Order: sequence, then structure tokens, then C-alpha cells
Amino acid sequence: MAQNYFQKEIETMPLEEMRKLQSEKLVKQVKHVYENVPYYRNLMDEKGVKPEDIKGIDDLHKLPFLQKSDLRDAYPYGLLGTSLDNCVRIHSTSGTTGRRVVAFYTQNDIDLWEDCCARAIVAVGGTKKDVCQVAYGYGLFTGGFGLNGGSQKVGCLTLPMSSGNTERQVQFMNDLGATILCCTPSYAAYIGEYIKEQGIQPEDISLKAGIFGAEPWTEEMRKGIEKSLGIKAYDIYGLTESTGPGVAFECSEQTGMHINEDHFFAEIIDPDTGEVLPEGSKGELVFTSLDKEGFPLLRYRTRDICVLSREKCSCGRTLVKMAKPMGRTDDMLIIRGVNVFPSQIETVLLNEGYEPNYQIVVDRVKNNDTFEVNVEMTAEKFTDKVSEILKMEKSLANAMKTMLGINPTVRLVAPKSIARSEGKAVRVIDKRKLV
Ligand code: ADP
Ligand code: ZN
Repeated sequence: MAQNYFQKEIETMPLEEMRKLQSEKLVKQVKHVYENVPYYRNLMDEKGVKPEDIKGIDDLHKLPFLQKSDLRDAYPYGLLGTSLDNCVRIHSTSGTTGRRVVAFYTQNDIDLWEDCCARAIVAVGGTKKDVCQVAYGYGLFTGGFGLNGGSQKVGCLTLPMSSGNTERQVQFMNDLGATILCCTPSYAAYIGEYIKEQGIQPEDISLKAGIFGAEPWTEEMRKGIEKSLGIKAYDIYGLTESTGPGVAFECSEQTGMHINEDHFFAEIIDPDTGEVLPEGSKGELVFTSLDKEGFPLLRYRTRDICVLSREKCSCGRTLVKMAKPMGRTDDMLIIRGVNVFPSQIETVLLNEGYEPNYQIVVDRVKNNDTFEVNVEMTAEKFTDKVSEILKMEKSLANAMKTMLGINPTVRLVAPKSIARSEGKAVRVIDKRKLV
């Protein structure tokens, strides 16, 4: 396949030149952050690092890390890199206020982010002749707006469908001849199944490629989606803290995602010691935003476990590649695309007068995540009236929905019935085998 690039010079830049570019950007960015973000200046001062100590990318390791807890402590404006007057948009992850990440974007940030998404679309063969159906959610979630912007930059005819309403998705796909589909892999698989149920053959739809991410998915899932939709399925990675999707994207080789390292410098560290690991090691992925203005996070620990590789890629891109994330260093689950921490369930139980004796069971049935929470009944609340129990389950499910944004099935079970191993209950049973 003839290779197309959106920004060829950057995407195929020799490593030495890339390092020079990254170094220049980093020196400027560190100085800017030190002067404008008191929260990070304090962290640097505590570590005894001054902006002058950072002379290039090789000095990056001297800087302190940022973690999700810093985002919580600094919520909402503490890590803002410029005046709010210069910001034009906010995006946020789902979850409670305590865990919520709110990221700020200047017009320039949005422009660069859309470039990243445009690179991803061109890498899967997208051109201005394509019709790009964006079925990621639009709103605070970054997926919809990110790919929408990228699609328009490429010049594709963009269908801002947002997620849901599968019947309408498929109707538009058919009537308007969509050629590229962007959504979560689970939704892509769901659309594939829906099409089959409707008796539509994959060759009857005009889709040729899909860009799927925002949650973990397996090679088996990739094969299933490729077959059911008759397309090539490509991965895309991102996180709200760094912008959103498009931090890294897959090319025709489908063997990992090229990181847009002119904007995001990636390191792999030992999650226990914080030590930077050599290329090819498995560890926690850390990103430094080299030119973001609104939310310029330096050395942000993603908690994603991953491996980087600089092996030559047949697509001609020289950008470093990351493997599919292989798990997380924290206990965050991604259920139906929403970030869920067991501690959030615990908070709801305590608020509602239950003991924190519970078990989360997640599975994937027909490409849809199922989400059950089993909760031990307490002696005080005990009743054998079925209608009462159903009422209590419903009320707990509602409280969890308010906290998480997604609806679990809650089941009240007998006291002490949740298995404990070594005295400690197993909190999460994830049957999806995603990594
Ligand atoms: P988004 O929903 O834009 O992906 P969030 O900030 O809500 O952003 O979640 C980011 C997390 O989602 C990442 O840290 C990672 O764990 C997960 N993630 C995103 N893209 C992928 C992907 N392609 N494969 C596996 N996990 C992913
Ligand atoms: Zn490649």
C-alpha cells in the first residue's frame, strides 16, 4: 500500500532530529510551567530542580512525576498552564468529582490534538474522499470531538453520529456510504453483530477501515470486528490528561501504535522505584506534554503497563511505537468505556449504610460489558421480604449510577457469603480476559 502521511516531515523524522526538536520544546515548556504553575513549581523546588537544570531531553529524568492524586489535589485549576481567558474548551473523564480529571485546552492545543487525530486517520488510508463516521460519544468525553476534528482536518466528509442508536448508525452508514468508522472496539463489535442480525452482509456496506480505542481490546476482538464489518481495524490510544485519543495510533502494520512524540515524550519506568527503564522493558508509561498550553502535564504517570519499541516500521514512520497496554498498575477498571475504581463502590456502600463487603463481577456478553455488584446484606437491614430486597437493590444501583455514570446490576447476598481468601475478599472478578 502506498504510504500517505498527514505531516510527513514529523512522522518520518530521523531520531536525532526528533530529539533536537523535543529538547528545544522541553526546555521552553519546563521554564513556562515553572513560572506559571505554582503546584508544579513546588514539586520541582522540593526536588531541588531548577528550570536551568533541564538543558534537553536527557535531563527529563530529573523532573518530578505527576500522578492522578496530584490532579485530584490540584482540582480544578491548580495545574492550569495559562490564564483561563486563553482556554477555549474543557474535557473531562467520567467518574466522581474526587476522581474526575478536568483538562483545559487553548485553541492551539485543540489544533495540535486534531493534527494527531488526522495523522491517525491518514495512517489507515483516510483521504478527503472518505466519509468518516464518528460514533464515539460527543461531550465531555474526548473521543467524539477529537476524531471529529481530525476527520475534518483530513477533509473527510464527517458524520458526527456520537454513540448509541445503532439502527440510525447503520442507516446513515448505508445511505451516506461511510468508509471509516471511529468508535470504541466494543461498540464496533456490537454494530457488527447488529448488521448480521439484520441480514446485511459485510460486503454490502462500504466501510473499509475502523479506528477503535479508549478501552482495552484483544487481537481476537480485532479479528472478529474485521470479519463482521469487512474492514481493517486499527487501534488508537489516548488519555484525557494528555489531550484524548491520538496520543498514539496504529499504521498499516497493525503491530502497535506510533506515539506522536513531537508532542508527547514517552518514558517507561519501574512503577515501584520510579527508575527509567531501557527501551524494550515492560513498565509504566509516563508522558510529558512538550507543547501543551492549557494543561501542560510533565512526567505524568498513566498507570498503563506497556512496552516501547523503535524497530523499523514498514510504514516508514520513525515515531516510536507502544504495544497495546498490558494492564494497569492501579485497580481501575474500564467498563463500557467508563473508568471505575472499586473504591467508588465502597464509598457508595458506606454512604448507604452497608459494610464494604462486596464483589464486582465484569464480563463481556455479546460484546457488551456486563457489570454486577454483589453486596453482603447487613444484620440491621436483613429482611426476607423479596419486594423489600428488590427495593434495596434498586436503590443501591441508583446510588452507584449517580457515582459512576453507568448502571450496575446489584445483588444483595447473605452475610459472609462472599469468598475471602487469606481473610481478604477478592474485590474484582474480571472475566473479559482483555490483556
Ligand atoms: P479516553 O476515554 O479518551 O481513552 P480516559 O482518560 O477516560 O480517556 O482513559 C484513558 C485510559 O483508557 C488510558 O490510560 C488507558 O488505560 C485506556 N485506553 C485508552 N485507549 C486505549 C487503547 N487503545 N487500548 C487500551 N487501553 C486504552
Ligand atoms: Zn508504522
